[in-house]
Formats: sequence, C-alpha cells, structure tokens
Amino acid sequence: MEQDSVAILLVEDDRTEAGLIRAEISRFARMRADVDHASRLAAAVDRLAERPYDIVLLDLNLPDGGGVESLQRVRAAAPNVPVVILTNLEDEEAAIATLSQGAQDYLIKRHITAELLRRSIRYAVARQEAEASLRASEERYALAVAGARDGIWDWDLARGDVHYSPRWFELLQLRDAEAVAAPATWLGRVHEDDRTGLEHALHAHLRGETPYLEHEFRMRNGCGQTLWVLCRGVAVRDAAGRAMRIAGSLTDISDRKLAEERLVHEVMHDTLTGLPNRALFLDRLDLALKQARRDSKRQFAVLFLDIDRFKTINDSLGHAAGDELLVEFGKRLTMFLRPGDSVARLGGDEFAILLMDVAGLTEATRVAERIHDLLSRKFLVANKEIYATASIGVALSGPKYEQPGDLLRDADLAMYRAKSSRTGAYTVFHSFMYESVLHRLELETELRSALGRNELVTYYQPIVSLDRLQVIGFEALSRWVHPTRGMIGPDVFIPLAENCGVIGPLSWWTMHDACRQMREWQRTRPEFANLSISVNISSRLFAEPEFAARTKAVLEKTGLRPETLHLEITENALLQHESTTIAELTALQNIGVKFHLDDFGTGYSSLSYLNRFRYDTIKIDRSFVAASPHVTRSRRIVDALISLAAVLGMDVIAEGVETEEQAQKLRDLNCRVAQGFLFAKPLPPEAAGTLLLQHRGVIPRATSPLS
Ligand code: C2E
Ligand code: MG
Ligand code: MG
Repeated sequence: MEQDSVAILLVEDDRTEAGLIRAEISRFARMRADVDHASRLAAAVDRLAERPYDIVLLDLNLPDGGGVESLQRVRAAAPNVPVVILTNLEDEEAAIATLSQGAQDYLIKRHITAELLRRSIRYAVARQEAEASLRASEERYALAVAGARDGIWDWDLARGDVHYSPRWFELLQLRDAEAVAAPATWLGRVHEDDRTGLEHALHAHLRGETPYLEHEFRMRNGCGQTLWVLCRGVAVRDAAGRAMRIAGSLTDISDRKLAEERLVHEVMHDTLTGLPNRALFLDRLDLALKQARRDSKRQFAVLFLDIDRFKTINDSLGHAAGDELLVEFGKRLTMFLRPGDSVARLGGDEFAILLMDVAGLTEATRVAERIHDLLSRKFLVANKEIYATASIGVALSGPKYEQPGDLLRDADLAMYRAKSSRTGAYTVFHSFMYESVLHRLELETELRSALGRNELVTYYQPIVSLDRLQVIGFEALSRWVHPTRGMIGPDVFIPLAENCGVIGPLSWWTMHDACRQMREWQRTRPEFANLSISVNISSRLFAEPEFAARTKAVLEKTGLRPETLHLEITENALLQHESTTIAELTALQNIGVKFHLDDFGTGYSSLSYLNRFRYDTIKIDRSFVAASPHVTRSRRIVDALISLAAVLGMDVIAEGVETEEQAQKLRDLNCRVAQGFLFAKPLPPEAAGTLLLQHRGVIPRATSPLS
C-alpha cells in the first residue's frame, strides 16, 4: 500500500478540525491520499453509497448522530470499510466503546500528527483486510461443515456437553427435542452390542494409547432404524497431557457396510442355492475338528454327495432345469438336517454335509442311507417329474485328521467309490482308497503302454436264447492283464483311458480283435455263421470324425459281415452328440450293422430318447433284472419295456441274469434273450471257443455256471 493512493472519507462537522486533519494528511510521507469530506452523518452515508472508500475517519459528535450509533450507521452503509474514530479527550471512554462495535482505532483530535494518522490508517486498512480473509475462511469452513456428508461433534470433557453440527442431527434424523447437546444423545443411541467396543476405543484414545479415535459401530436413528457409522476424533490435551476436549466427525457408512456384508455373504455362499460354499464349509469343519480335539468323545461325520447323471439332466432338460434341480436338492438336504449340522454346495453337482455329534460310523451311514432315500423321491423340475439319486461318500472324524480339507478329500474319495460301484448308494472311506488315487496317475502312465505290451485281452460273455440256452452271440468285454496288479476291469481302466486320451487306440484294437475272433468262430461251423459279436463303444469314440469309415475298414479287414457286428451304446452317450454323430451311426446301420441300447433304464428319461435313433435291441440293465426289495416294481418295468420294444420292433436282451428264478421270470414275461453269470461269466477266448466247439454252443445245464 506504500505507494498506493488511499481513498479517505472524512466525516467532521467542525470546519477548523476538518481543515487541520486535511493539512496533516497532505503531509503524509509515502502515501497519496484522496480525501472527501462530509460534515453530516447523512451525507457520509450517501457518499459511502456512491463510491468505495478505503477508510472512514468518523467524528463521534455530529449534529445528526453521535457515539456508537453513528458508527453503526456507517458500518451498515459500508460493512467492509474500516472506521477510525476521531474524538476529543473528554470523550475517550465513548471512543473505546466503539472498538467493541467494530471500529478499528480511535484518535484524539488534539494529538493527531501526520505520522500518527498515517500509521492508524495503514493499520486499520491492513487489519480490515486480514479480518475479511479470516471471515472468508471461516465462512468456507462453516460451508464445508454444513455441506459435508459428515456430522461434526465437539465434546467438552470438563463441562460434559457436546456440540453437534446440524448435519450430525440430520444423519441421525433427530428433531428438536431429541437434538440435545449431551453425550447421551450420542452414546445412548449406540447399538448395545457395540457399546463396549466404542467405550474401549474412546477411553484408549483419551488415555493417550491411540493417536486418534476411529471406530465403526451401529446407532439407532430417530426413526428407530439402525445405521452403521464411522466415528473419527482427536483429543485436545492440556500441558500435562490430559484430554480436555475431543472433537471429530461421524460418517454414515451403512451403504458400505451393507455392501461389505453382501460381499462376505457372496464370498462364503453359493449364489445359486444360497447354501454355504466350500470355503465356509471348510471353516465350519475346522471348528468341528477343534472341538473334537478338545473333547475326543465328540465325533462328527462328513458326507460328500454327488448327483448321479447330473450332466445328462442338464444336457437334456437344459441348464435352467439343471439349476432348478440343484436348488431343490439343496432345499431337501437343508430340511433334513438337525440344528448344528451344515450343508454346503461345493460346486457343480457336489454337496457336502457336516453331521455334528454322531455316535459313530453306524449312525453316520444310517443318515447317509436316509438321505439317499429322501433324494430318490421324485423332484418337480421344469414342470416335469424327474428322479435324481446321489452317490454319497462318508468320512468319520478321528485323531488322524488335522486339516478340514483332508476329511473332505476322503469323503470325496469314498463318494467316487460309491459312484463307480454302481450298486452302492454310499461308501465309507477307507485308507486304501487314498492309495488308489495315488496309484491312479501311475496306472494312467502304464495304460499308455499296455497296448504295445499286449496286456489287453478281450473276454467274451455269451448271449443266449432263454428257451434252449443256445449261444447266439458274444459280448466283447475288455480286460487289462496288468503284470503286477493282476486283472483290471473295464470299469476302472475305460474311464482312465478316456481321461488320458488312449481310448481311441484302445477301442479300435478291441473292435478289431473281437471282429477277427468272431470271424474265426463263424468259420468253424456253418451254424455259427450268424453268431454276433457285441462291442461296447465309448461315447468318446463317436467324436472321431471317421467313425463309420474306420468301422467299415475293420469289417473289411477281418471279413466279418456287418449284420453280425452289434455296437453297444449307452443311452447317455448319444445325448451329448450332434446330428453328425447320428449320421455316422446311420451310415453303419445302412450297411447292416446293428445297434444295441446298453444299460437301458439307468440313464435319464430313457423312453423319450428311443426315437432319436432307431436301435435294433434294448439291453435291460441288470438292476431291473436283479431281485430287489421293489421286485414287483422292477417286474412291471421289465414287462412294460418288453412290450414297448415289441411295439417298436426292437429285440430285448436281459442283462445280469444270475439265478434260475430270474431266468424263469424273464421267460414268463416273454423275454427271449439274456446274458448273465447264470449262463456264463465273460470268458477268455479259449474258453469261449471250447463252449462253442465242445458244447455246440449250448450252455451246459450244470449246477455251476461256466467261468
Ligand atoms: P456292460 O456293457 O453293461 O457289460 C456288462 C457287464 O456286466 C460286464 O462287466 C459283465 O461282466 C457284467 N455282468 C454280466 N453278467 C452279469 C451278472 O450276471 N451279474 C453281474 N453282477 N454282472 C454281470 P464288465 O466286463 O466289468 O464291464 C463293465 C462295463 O465296461 C461294460 O458294461 C461296458 O459298458 C464297459 N466295457 C467293457 N468292455 C469295454 C470296451 O472294450 N470298450 C468300452 N468302451 N467299454 C467297455
Ligand atoms: Mg455292453
Ligand atoms: Mg450293460
């Protein structure tokens, strides 16, 4: 301001005084001044409205106003222009009073010098500017507080009152009567479960143990709703470090908490069924393990469930229906359980159950059995009644288990067994199963070289007419004669072969071997010329683009008539394939190759698939043939199937006939062809040859079957 000009309004009714002051101003060093003079208060107010002034020099005794009142009128006309009071010595008290009303300074007229006046003006202007900027920043602060999402609180610990900002009350939806500046307004609304936590955090900070207070808790708002808040605060301490005040903010974090909770739920639950997922299940398993460790009398069991043929259901009815089944499945399991037990969906069609406090293995398996029954009842999915069973593996807790994952793994292994055993609904885990998995990889490696080492052998099981027990053909069944492990069945190594990619070479070898063998037998006697050979075809083999062409090549090479080659396909195998596959099969059918629908009745919604492809023969699965508690039901099904096959012009072969009684029942039902241990087990080629050549292909009516 040194070189700036300053605009001064001098309000003074005494002309002499005014002249003296003007004279002093004109002597200012380093300040140019531009002075307007008003001799009345009214004129001064007018002037202030006309143009901006940097300062007003105001005489306190004017004809039209005096004292504090004239100051107020000047300030009302120009609130931000500093005012310096001019007074007489006698009026000093009155001048002092104006300072508290906003005057910047006062000068005794008699003592005024140019230097004093200049300093006073400079000081007044500078101070006015500082105050203005302070006011602006205060306003900004007030605006910030008012506009912020946060409520502000300021707790005077000595006096015990808390100042809350309007936003604070607004956050908690508190109206007048409730909006009291007391600690209880806040603390009284904290959720009772969170109160101790908050008090701990608060006291820890007040004692100086934490650098600041930061705590999340729930509060009840004025409408009785619960919200989550984040409270931050810092204490102001005296010289001795005692907290005198604590102030801070309160933020509504309900949305974030809700999202967090949802996230935690999502992370721990399966979205489709709403059941706990693998992570949460393992968590609970871990808890159960720890409990059992403390109290060895407490045993628990893990059940691992896998829906049978779920893929088939999914493929045939669609994913929406598959999902629906999973949800229903989960519901049924949940309803069955006692409080304390848990059920989880581990993924896909796998579920797990934790049974707490079981008395032992017997109880666990009894539960498994009951669950199996419960699940075997029909489900209503996509407005269709469907039957879905589950394979269950059971593992019982014990001191050998340290990790929850181990229990689950063993239950899984046992389930795998239950699935492949075909008959079993559930299987209890035994340690040998673990070893079997360890050997699986080894086995796969060995299987790759089995073909080259001639370890694969084809066995032949006779298919006989039920009236005369005449062999009308054979089913080729593969065996792996392992150098150290002995004979390994196709139920074990066919899935392995499918897994490790050798199913192709292995299948083609068997097809060739069986056709060659059959051609040889057909040649031995004229009446054997029509003997058929049934070869099982893995669904993976259809995927080969040249399936029909390669089969024809085998026929040509071995000289076998196409009519005597019967290919066995399981009903599920066709479901997964496209029309191109059907075209391949039809091409073979056109040259005379026959097709058997294998294991009929074990797949899903079998009947509806009969018209997808024209099979020549249905093989009724042995589960229908075998005597069971539901014997009348099976019998009726077999009866219906035989009639149906007749209507559709298909033949029927009954599989797995083990007793004379079963054979007789089948005869009664008009079933003419069968296969089973009653007549002969799968035979090595030489034994099958002997049956043909020495017994003319008629099963000897001996008490013990051929083996
Ligand atoms: P499948 O085609 O249903 O063959 C019948 C199975 O039932 C054979 O088991 C046979 O030994 C068994 N069986 C026959 N009569 C009776 C009986 O009276 N009682 C009982 N309990 N079982 C009987 P195997 O040989 O273990 O074959 C199992 C499955 O492996 C076969 O079921 C077939 O689907 C598959 N398979 C066998 N050989 C091959 C092959 O070369 N290629 C392919 N892809 N699959 C094969
Ligand atoms: Mg078969
Ligand atoms: Mg079968």
